[in-house]
This record gives sequence, structure tokens and C-alpha cells, in this order.
Amino acid sequence: MRHAVVSDIHGNLEALLSVLADIERRDIESMVCLGDFVGYGASPNECIETLRPLIEAAVIGNHDMAAIGRLRLASFNPDAASAAMWTDVTLTAENRAYLQNLPYSVSWRGHRLVHASPSNPEEWRYVLSQEDAEEEMSAFTERVCLIGHSHYPGAFEWNARRMRYTREAEIRIEEGHRYLVNVASVGQPRDSDPRAGYLIIDDDSQTLTHVRLEYDIDRAMRRIVEAGLPSFLAERLQWGE
Ligand code: ZN
Repeated sequence: MRHAVVSDIHGNLEALLSVLADIERRDIESMVCLGDFVGYGASPNECIETLRPLIEAAVIGNHDMAAIGRLRLASFNPDAASAAMWTDVTLTAENRAYLQNLPYSVSWRGHRLVHASPSNPEEWRYVLSQEDAEEEMSAFTERVCLIGHSHYPGAFEWNARRMRYTREAEIRIEEGHRYLVNVASVGQPRDSDPRAGYLIIDDDSQTLTHVRLEYDIDRAMRRIVEAGLPSFLAERLQWGE
């Protein structure tokens, strides 16, 4: 069986539709979301309404929290803060309630799902170094923990003695090893690859695969500008930064 993990959609419907079309072409059993449904992009309601009936589980992200007024904007840069305020007034009551009820962390089909760090999901810490990852391994009991937040895909592999970091697209799950996997962002990639990203879990081949896809970036950019959001949020999409 294969499963899809999407993360950090950030209201980018054009990127999300490209990812969902790819998922539909493959034999995918179920799907989950690691949060940041909204913030930055022009289609927060459409992204929630499109994903919600398709996903088995989801966790809340810091931009989801900010958009429903549950996170102080002092920690955000000015563009992120103004996007959060725009999203706040744009979200429907039903979509707000949906975000409001999402957990910080959840166990799903034997994997741990969290937006930021499994040790302190509500502190929105980034897991970027091998030292960070080593500290996090004791914060979950599952073999694989899937995270988003950094928009920088990669995987930390712990073999009970040392930590290895890899940016390879395919990760083989080895017996006795444990994994902390950062899933790529659907709607705002920041690893200099502007393509939309998501992850496939294959139970039969015991592999995790990062997938990247072209999407209509021009349209996503145009819609951000038309919505009156900061133009930098449109520009950065073409660079994947
Ligand atoms: Zn994000």
C-alpha cells in the first residue's frame, strides 16, 4: 500500500492541484497533511476545502494558528504577518473551526505526524542539524516521524549509534533504524527548487520517496498580486526560496 504526505500548502491552490493530480495517477491508499494549510498564498479556503475530504489525519501548523488569531504575529516577518492578517479575514467560519480543532501531533498508521518538532510541537522549532535531530529521536516512539515547517526536504536516519542526514529522493527503511523525515512544501518550496513537493510512503517496498512536480507558478503568482498580498510572496515562488 502507498500513502501520500503533503505539507506546507500555504494557500497555493495551483501547486496543490498539481500534487493531487499526481497522487490520483498513482495507486495511493490514503493521504495526510502536516499543517500550514494557509498563509502566504491566495487560496486558503479552497486549499482547506479541497484537502479536507481527502485526508485521513492532519496536524496544525504555525501559519494556521496565526491565521485564526491563536499565535502572536511578533515572531513573523512583515510579509508573513500581513499574509496572516489577510488570511484571518478571508477564512470562512467553517474553515477556521476546522483549523482550530486540529491537534499538534498525532500517531497515524504507526507513524508520528507533527508540523515542527516532536519534542515541543507548540514551540515551532526547526529541526535542521543532526544534533537537533538526535535530541528529537527520544520524543517519539514510532519508527518514522514526519515533519514539515522548514520547507527543506531531507531525512535524518538513526541506526542506534549515529545520525545520518540525506537529501536523496528515495529513503529505504532499514530494520532497526529510526527516521525523522522533513517533507517538502507543496506551496512554497525553499530549497531553490520551485517545484511543488510531497512524499510517498510505500509499505511494500519499505521506501519513502520525495516527489517534485511542475505547476502553474505564473498563475499562483498572479493571484497573490491580485489578492493584494505582498508582491515578494509572489516573486519568491519562481525561485523556490
Ligand atoms: Zn510552512
